[in-house]
Amino acid sequence: KCTTAEDLVKAITDEKVQMIDLRFTDLPGMWQHFSVPPSAVNADALNEGFGFDGSSIRGFQEIQESDMLVVADPTTAFVDPYSPAKTLVLICNIRDPVTGQSYSRDARYIAQKAEIYLKGSGRADTSYFGPEAEFFVFDEVRYAQGINYAMHAVDSSEGSWNTGSEEGPNLGHKPRPKEGYFPVPPTDSMQALRTEMVLTMESLGIQIEAHHHEVATGGQNEIDMRFTTLTRMADNLMIYKYVVKNTAHQHGKTATFMPKPLFEDNASGMHVHQSLWKGETNLFYDKGDYAELSQLGRYYIGGLLSHAWALCGLCAPTTNSYRRLVPGYEAPINLVYSQRNRSACCRIPMYSPNPRAKRVEFRSPDPSCNPYLAFAAMLMAGLDGIDKRIDPGGPIDKNLYDLPPAEAKEVKSTPGSLDQALDALERDHAFLLRGDVFTADVIETWLDYKRKKEVDPIRLRPHPYEFHLYYDI
Ligand code: GLU
Ligand code: MG
Ligand code: MG
Repeated sequence: KCTTAEDLVKAITDEKVQMIDLRFTDLPGMWQHFSVPPSAVNADALNEGFGFDGSSIRGFQEIQESDMLVVADPTTAFVDPYSPAKTLVLICNIRDPVTGQSYSRDARYIAQKAEIYLKGSGRADTSYFGPEAEFFVFDEVRYAQGINYAMHAVDSSEGSWNTGSEEGPNLGHKPRPKEGYFPVPPTDSMQALRTEMVLTMESLGIQIEAHHHEVATGGQNEIDMRFTTLTRMADNLMIYKYVVKNTAHQHGKTATFMPKPLFEDNASGMHVHQSLWKGETNLFYDKGDYAELSQLGRYYIGGLLSHAWALCGLCAPTTNSYRRLVPGYEAPINLVYSQRNRSACCRIPMYSPNPRAKRVEFRSPDPSCNPYLAFAAMLMAGLDGIDKRIDPGGPIDKNLYDLPPAEAKEVKSTPGSLDQALDALERDHAFLLRGDVFTADVIETWLDYKRKKEVDPIRLRPHPYEFHLYYDI
């Protein structure tokens, strides 16, 4: 356990570390890295930071101002389980060498500022986050077929089960679409792989609560981490994705956090459980209220729901996210709250009567988000709800997918496309700028990046399904 650069230098010598790997998260949310040998590391170098070209990183600098520094957070050190040489990984923040300041487009810095802002607000001292990231594992060789399959499974009459015949042997033990939750092996073919992932995560200090096959056919999984503080949890999620992808890769498989790889089957969400605490008191708990949720917790929900469209621009931030947010697949499309209902965007889980377990589950996010930005944005929305006493109205405990049309019309839903979510974020982001947690620059950069690099390229390309519909017109 290291807390200073000096601790790190000592650990590098004592543990005979052979390589130091410096990691940081780009704006869309992927880990980037470069390595330095122990001979290039001393306490001064660690404190000053190591240089890299910021202009080649997605969402970072212009070419004329490209030099940037990574500054390691000593508390994040762990030994890379996938490297043959003994490699110490350090999660880093970004600093601008010219101004000497932390970098405003560094998502990890934004997450840290959100935590500082919470403390300064006096509302609470700690926010806890618990994401449930779902993911698919496919055979590496079948990846291309997977794409083929998503394109060609055109309607329910020739849905996913039939196309399974292209996928090789043992289909008798492949779960039917939407029936993956959760028969024992051999139908669950992922138990050994998930177990290996979980043991690796635990060896890296991440506490795991459960793992299981998910609802979609063969290969949709979930591993649940025990909640922790905001930035720490975003760090953990980056490690989680790294372990999931690398364990799968070592077994000739490939893991994806893309929300909706399969047509007509469940998608991968990342529900995020959250609560606010003062000392040892969970501020979301109050006995006797609906779902034992306090008034403060209700206002927090009011904030999440009233900013839900803008939040989607950061929490469900890919064009593919909106193929998930459709009725019928346990993805939440309704902007309401409920104690048990899985079609509601905010759920108040009722598994435990323990006040410490009281929390709000926001279900719209998916694992294609940048967790530092997504968690920070949710906290800022919840705090806005508390400050403005935004009342979320009454709960809705019915199955929202089956509401009669007249009632259904009253219920607002999530955006229908990334385009709509980004427009909402452009209109509604004052709540994110408070305390300079997000800056106007980072919001503009995000909108510009997402529109130019994702929305437009998808919109401008002829879609394979258009050939099916229109070729013979
Ligand atoms: N996969 C579902 C989603 O897209 C969630 C299933 C569950 O409730 O865990 O959010
Ligand atoms: Mg799940
Ligand atoms: Mg959940």
